[in-house]
Amino acid sequence: MLFTGTRSDMSVTSAFAIATGLAADGGLFVPQEFPRFSAEEFAAMIPMDYCQRAAAVLGKYLTDYTADEIRTCVESAYKGTFDNDQPAPLADIGNNRKMLELWHGPTCAFKDLALQLLPGLLTVALKKGDSGREAVILVATSGDTGKAALAGFADVKDTRIVVFYPRDGVSDMQKLQMTTQKGGNVSVCAIAGNFDDAQNGVKAIFTDPEMKKFLNDHNMEFSSANSINFGRLVPQIVYYVSAYCDLLKDGSLKAGESFNVTVPTGNFGNILAAVYAEKMGVPIKKFICASNKNNVLTDFINSGVYDRNRHFYTTESPSMDILISSNLERLLHLFADGDCQVVAKLMSELKNSGRYTLPAGMMAKVQEKFYGGFCDDLAGRQAIAKIFKERNYLCDTHTAVALAVADAYRAETGDETLMVIASTASAYKFAPAVLKALTDGELPEDDFRKLELLAELTGTNVPAPLAGLKGDKVLHSCCVAKEDMAQFIRQRLS
Ligand SMILES: *Cc1c(COP(=O)(O)O)cnc(C)c1O
Repeated sequence: MLFTGTRSDMSVTSAFAIATGLAADGGLFVPQEFPRFSAEEFAAMIPMDYCQRAAAVLGKYLTDYTADEIRTCVESAYKGTFDNDQPAPLADIGNNRKMLELWHGPTCAFKDLALQLLPGLLTVALKKGDSGREAVILVATSGDTGKAALAGFADVKDTRIVVFYPRDGVSDMQKLQMTTQKGGNVSVCAIAGNFDDAQNGVKAIFTDPEMKKFLNDHNMEFSSANSINFGRLVPQIVYYVSAYCDLLKDGSLKAGESFNVTVPTGNFGNILAAVYAEKMGVPIKKFICASNKNNVLTDFINSGVYDRNRHFYTTESPSMDILISSNLERLLHLFADGDCQVVAKLMSELKNSGRYTLPAGMMAKVQEKFYGGFCDDLAGRQAIAKIFKERNYLCDTHTAVALAVADAYRAETGDETLMVIASTASAYKFAPAVLKALTDGELPEDDFRKLELLAELTGTNVPAPLAGLKGDKVLHSCCVAKEDMAQFIRQRLS
């Protein structure tokens, strides 16, 4: 199994793709072809636990890793790190809908599924590359990736991690999670800008020759823990494969029978992993892409025009406040049948004018497989209140967007196929907004009192990783202009 770039043809190993993160021309690494599971292989996975299923999926892509290396990585990622022995359980919420709960990990968001595993995969990849260099993990975060990456990489040997987050674009709980992070190899810094600024800054630093030389001189190399790294995507494919196995196991589906998925989307990594799972043989019929008021993807799916020239909204689902969805580039590569020139042209249009129009053939593929919808904060709150009232089920603001859009899809199309909704964060991470959805009462000032109030109102428990932040010292309080990100990195690494 070899990997190519999305903007120019090349052949690299999975270890190279994971260690480097981004291709030298700014493109993303994608598999040259997709491995498939046969019906027998799916049947064999039904009795397996999550770690075994993960090893089966990873084994198909990371063919330059030994079975032992994969098993060790997977077990250290998922054994004893999640609050139950199923990292990605399904919860029934009625009307032929299931929540795929992806927030039982150490930072209470779905990013943990990938970022508990990535440090192991990266460490092995670096060893295979044998450069003897330290890896500098650069992260731009809309809130959840930052903490999950910090938790995964803190004090991991031969790595340093630098996280940039938008100063006014993350929830108080997300900010506290990041700024209290301990570890000798971690740096966390706010930027005066939004997530797209942070992501663009990181991408530019990655390909900047001067920075490259600086790192070389310090015997270091950059890598990425953002979903531009293929090592982030492959663990996300696992939970869609695992969900299918669970649906077969509990009789919700017969072998080969298809289901739909709805994914609350920002950078397009999670939903792309579902597309990759489908390429591997998981029978997903329709991909419902749910956005908040930053609905650039809804418009793209409906019109074939990607146009980032629009107002940027700060919403109650901050991890989806994104106007440039990086992983869409991988979908373009897939739908262009691997024609890198087409992708390179579209990406250069995006860079130069902030917009591009899909060729008709690719547009047809998007519309066949995808449905795009969005909802605003008010509709999200209504979805939280409704599902709690009807099913006593508590969901966060991001999952609420998906739930609202999933229901809108059904109402519009009449398609009652089993719906799996990716539930991407614990409601406690976004307690103020969730509380506003559930009660008209006055909210307490103190953030931890808010968590307790949510627990009292819903009869659920405050997740231990969040309760445990109380009293932790803030260790990282710097903030830089977006132009000064490279300077900050130089200072920290010197
Ligand atoms: C990151 C995130 C998303 C968006 O996922 P993408 O892979 O970037 O599309 C949605 N919800 C939550 C809670 C997140 O942390």
